[in-house]
Amino acid sequence: MPDPIDLLIEAKWIIPVEPADIVLENHSVAVDKGRIVAILQQSEGNFRFTPREVRQLHDHVLIPGLVNLHTHAAMSLLRGLADDLPLDVWLRDHIWPAEAKHVSPQFVHDGTLLACAEMLRGGVTCFNDMYFFPQATAKAALELGIRAVVGLIAVDFPTAYAADADDYLAKGMAVRDEFRDSPLLKFCLAPHAPYTVSDRSFEKVLTLSEQCDVPLHMHLHETRKEIEDSLKLFGMRPIERLRRLGVLGPGLIGAHAVHLEDHEIQLLAQHGCSVAHCPSSNLKLASGIARIAQMTQKGVNIGLGTDGAASNNRLDILQEMRTASLLAKGSSGQADAVGAHQALRMATLNGARALGLDKEIGSIEEGKSADFCAIKTNDSLLAPCYDPVSLLAYSAGREHVSDVWVAGKACVSNGNLPHCNMIELKNLAALWQNRVCS
Ligand SMILES: [Zn+2]
Repeated sequence: MPDPIDLLIEAKWIIPVEPADIVLENHSVAVDKGRIVAILQQSEGNFRFTPREVRQLHDHVLIPGLVNLHTHAAMSLLRGLADDLPLDVWLRDHIWPAEAKHVSPQFVHDGTLLACAEMLRGGVTCFNDMYFFPQATAKAALELGIRAVVGLIAVDFPTAYAADADDYLAKGMAVRDEFRDSPLLKFCLAPHAPYTVSDRSFEKVLTLSEQCDVPLHMHLHETRKEIEDSLKLFGMRPIERLRRLGVLGPGLIGAHAVHLEDHEIQLLAQHGCSVAHCPSSNLKLASGIARIAQMTQKGVNIGLGTDGAASNNRLDILQEMRTASLLAKGSSGQADAVGAHQALRMATLNGARALGLDKEIGSIEEGKSADFCAIKTNDSLLAPCYDPVSLLAYSAGREHVSDVWVAGKACVSNGNLPHCNMIELKNLAALWQNRVCS
């Protein structure tokens, strides 16, 4: 007797990511109770299973859901507010004043909703966030059914959210407790950056991350100025300071890591740290180009991030795949740097590994959660298709994403979000735009 299951997805191509560098043709994925129960040839599907739903994707490539390893989802409400500026001026004169005036639980909720809708439409099924009022981030993510690792932010200056580092951490822990039974939510500690967090606060963050067994997510070596300021203030570069504080370790996700010397790449590799590479944000803020080819050679785990929409201005991991690949080739002089399969691995399994979620998501393997993204390939813009991985990395755009599932639940169907009213969402964005401009 065939086994009853919830869903059978038949796809022209499946790229499982693990095993690496393979493409399965005319295969199906069987899903039950949100998990992958089998990956099999299409001809076998109906013998082995009686699915409640069959989704036929005969012009599509099915990949694991994309992981956005560094973002500030709520900042979508500040998209395009201040462009063409370097990071310090952009932050000091534009972003921080706007945040001081407007950031509230409602702002974070609405901005995150906008961001989650954008990410889902672009095939992202999991994002690693860092922002104020993380409770509002968690609520918005749950509303749209996207998986999130919510950063419990800590800085040493007061904001509308918290008074000092202790207050940030106490509030963060309370949020973690509140949502601890939500299977789609995980948490990480997010000390913003070495230039906004004191040694004393880092020590507390480190103790908490060890106690709670959660990753650490911070900006790291994003600009030259950050390093020069650290040399003046602490007499050492930020990574050396973190090494002395004991912060370097397998749980550390350093966002950006643009300016690294050879020995610093070695240090990150030795300690098993991960890097959230954000090529578009680094280019837009003129921060520089991260040495991805060299980091990869040394074995640093590299995932991809968009950063916030205020500095990108898209939350589009497919585009980051293409940009990361082209930049690595151009800056290293090696045309084989970050090939198509590797770009996809960075956007999926490497991101999952950085978050400690690689047993749950990041590849299409039996037993893992059914988090998928389907891309429709029968568009003349993409024709012909000699190789679906090449199509994904170099030709396809997020407009080609047709269907997205998170834990077996359809979050995008034929390009539409069934759980989200797009007109209301646009109105919400317009409302905030009026407030920010007033
Ligand atoms: Zn950032």
